[in-house]
Amino acid sequence: MWTEHDPVASVYLHAPFCARRCPYCDYAVSVAGGHELPAWVEAIGAELDLLRSEEGLRLSERLDTVYVGGGTPSHLGPTAMDAVADLLGRGRLGGPEFEWTAEANPEDLTPELAGRWAQAGVTRVSLGVQSLHLPSLRWLGRRHEPRDARGAVEAARRAGIRELTLDLLFGLPGDLGRRWRDEVEAVVGLGPDHVSLYGLTVEPDTELGRAVASGREAPASEDRRDAEYLEAAEILSESGYLHYEVSSFAREGRRARHEAGYREGRPYLGLGNGAHSFAPPVRRWNLTDWAAYRDRCLAQRSPEEARERLDAAALRLERIWLALRTRWGWALEEARGSRAREVMEGWVDRGLALEVGGRIRLTPRGWLRLDELTVALDEAQAG
Ligand code: SF4
Repeated sequence: MWTEHDPVASVYLHAPFCARRCPYCDYAVSVAGGHELPAWVEAIGAELDLLRSEEGLRLSERLDTVYVGGGTPSHLGPTAMDAVADLLGRGRLGGPEFEWTAEANPEDLTPELAGRWAQAGVTRVSLGVQSLHLPSLRWLGRRHEPRDARGAVEAARRAGIRELTLDLLFGLPGDLGRRWRDEVEAVVGLGPDHVSLYGLTVEPDTELGRAVASGREAPASEDRRDAEYLEAAEILSESGYLHYEVSSFAREGRRARHEAGYREGRPYLGLGNGAHSFAPPVRRWNLTDWAAYRDRCLAQRSPEEARERLDAAALRLERIWLALRTRWGWALEEARGSRAREVMEGWVDRGLALEVGGRIRLTPRGWLRLDELTVALDEAQAG
């Protein structure tokens, strides 16, 4: 899969451990006590060795980006990023353009942990704030309090972490009494370089999904979700953040580079349970269950669950979807046929898109309908 590509320059590592499972979460998570670092490092290291020996994987002498996501990477403790540096090779990490992101939960990001991560070379911390309203945090099953988020921001800044991104969740039920505008403004007040705004989704196979199915919980209405997204987008834009991707807002020069690689279709390696890798046009993904993944790796058998070779139609749909996610949009010259043009003109008429410099670009209202619009455009192109 890797042999026909240049050495891989972007690596994702999945750290699946969490202190408990939040009721809305359907990620590849393993509830654990916080002592899993040695086992995780051993399994990831074994997977890396297997990929090198069996798939011809080569890592670039200088990596562009590393992203440690989860789960909760900060649950692995202060030394986790030193272990990651040793796994990947310290000489590959660093340089003025190098970006190393690690996700953290506010309750874990102590001055000690932030200091160790900064020393290891982490340049960017993605902090799972989600809300600054205590009843909402409790409803979400999160362990931290609003003051922990503030403390974590301070710890990251003091440690010299170059970039800080805060995650914020919209679309919670109205009866929690959340004051949305105040929360968004308070997040801005924390001075992050980047804000990621995600809508709460009710996945059927979760505690929340089952509560909604049985009528014990009512999800936020679509109107409420839309209104919160648009209001946050407006506040963040007015506060100097560039809304450069459907969920992403950044100060000048602070856009996330690892995620940009996904959107631009560049190859990336994913290590860990549930992790995906892409070596165009092949995508592969690992077993989701941590124990099954670990056992395979330690038995020196591939933990891959499946792979697919994307055909031209699938690549085209993905390219449109990824382009429309960004503020640079999709080049009109790629439109095939008058039907596609008509579809896009219809979006512009309805205020869902703008035509700027030969590109069609969704507005925040358009981004709320991203999937539907992408499919409509793909069908118009194919028809
Ligand atoms: S902390 Fe994040 S990854 Fe872990 S269970 Fe909660 S939502 Fe899922």
